[in-house]
Amino acid sequence: MKTISPKIIYNAYRDIFNGGFNITPPDLHLPRIKAFIKDTYRVLRHPLKPALLPGPIPPRLLLALQYDLFIFSGFKVYCQFNESCTLYRDQKPREPHFEEFYEVTEQLRELYNKHYLKAEYEYVVRCVKHITEWVQTRGSEHEYNLLYQSSGCCPDHAALDGICLPATHPFWEVAYPPNSWHCTCRVLPVDSNLPTTGIEKALKRLNKTLPGNDPMHSMFRFNPATTQSLNGGLGRIFPPEHPYYGPGHLLQCTCAYESSVEEPIVQTDYVRKDAIVPGELSSEEFEQFWDKFFAAITREDA
Ligand SMILES: [Zn+2]
Repeated sequence: MKTISPKIIYNAYRDIFNGGFNITPPDLHLPRIKAFIKDTYRVLRHPLKPALLPGPIPPRLLLALQYDLFIFSGFKVYCQFNESCTLYRDQKPREPHFEEFYEVTEQLRELYNKHYLKAEYEYVVRCVKHITEWVQTRGSEHEYNLLYQSSGCCPDHAALDGICLPATHPFWEVAYPPNSWHCTCRVLPVDSNLPTTGIEKALKRLNKTLPGNDPMHSMFRFNPATTQSLNGGLGRIFPPEHPYYGPGHLLQCTCAYESSVEEPIVQTDYVRKDAIVPGELSSEEFEQFWDKFFAAITREDA
């Protein structure tokens, strides 16, 4: 795994200290803060590189995924500084010194830029693999069922093991892996004649595995390939409910992205939400089914 340059981290911390050890959204535009965001993005984007070659993932979806990684990197840096500054201010330093600020925040920097980053990186690796499989299955002319497999390797999601539903079923919008940071579960396309699991049983197992009242688990109730992107298309790698995200900061991250993106933006057809509507239901019927489906999850969690 690549790492974030220690010099870039140091320089960014120095600018935040010189600015009064306080971070506000406009600070994300400062050159050395932006460099920190871009370097975080460079590390997290690395697993996506093979997928950027011509392959199954449509360019528009790839663009959305890259966008998501960049926005996530911006929020990650913002949260890290927010916590670092609070930590130092809480020490009530009489004569603030940069070296002291840097020392006080050492553990936090390790946490964000090594331990969290490693978990996030490995999650991106698995996520890209799952998105590729999803696109391949959904792009096929054949009808498939999908079979959830935890295969004994992912005990947290053992209750979902063996759930079998049509590939077009909305269940896969909320139960498609990775279903946690270290999830190694898989979903395999199988013959559409294989018997399916009753939806009530599947929901019951989902509620038990990813309880709606537990944010650290329930944030993984989403499908990275079909979740609304922040740039208007579809595709998000990190859970939209991730604790890094907070209100009021998005616009700044968006601006930083637009001014620093280096790849040409390819506009082509992309996976549309209506592309996943089951053929036998009208859009209206699907919407009703969709509402009922989420109502059922909420009710079970109450
Ligand atoms: Zn799992």
